[in-house]
Amino acid sequence: MIPMSVDEFISDFSRFYILTLLYEGPCHGYSIITRFKRRIGKEVSPSLVYPFLQQLEQKGLVEHTVKPVGEKERKVFELTIEGRELCTRLFKRFANIISIAIEPSLEVCAHCACKVYEGGHIEVMGGKETTFCCKHCAESYKREKMSHV
Ligand SMILES: [Zn+2]
Repeated sequence: MIPMSVDEFISDFSRFYILTLLYEGPCHGYSIITRFKRRIGKEVSPSLVYPFLQQLEQKGLVEHTVKPVGEKERKVFELTIEGRELCTRLFKRFANIISIAIEPSLEVCAHCACKVYEGGHIEVMGGKETTFCCKHCAESYKREKMSHV
């Protein structure tokens, strides 16, 4: 069993997304393809999905069971404990990357110093736009300013 590094996955978003689908629960190859399309709005090729599942299985990250679906039998793929652990590490790593990526666009609330991800509450004070996370923080900020005068 050759360990698979987190970097190998991050370089390819399709594979990353297939892992998130597997992480949600056991699924067969075809449902990965249809769910991928529904969520991402993009086709994922079976020639990517099936070899990837096979590769994961070879590395001990996924295992399959054969279950009857109607007349046919289908392979249902499921993450192993190792697979789930890898996903957890991968998602954490991905969350870090995302937070680094959006950090420069973040505003900080002038009152409580929490990060304002989108919108927030902006008030013009002394001719300058001041950002708050919410209007309550803006109120408190103004009240404090007043009491200092
Ligand atoms: Zn605030």
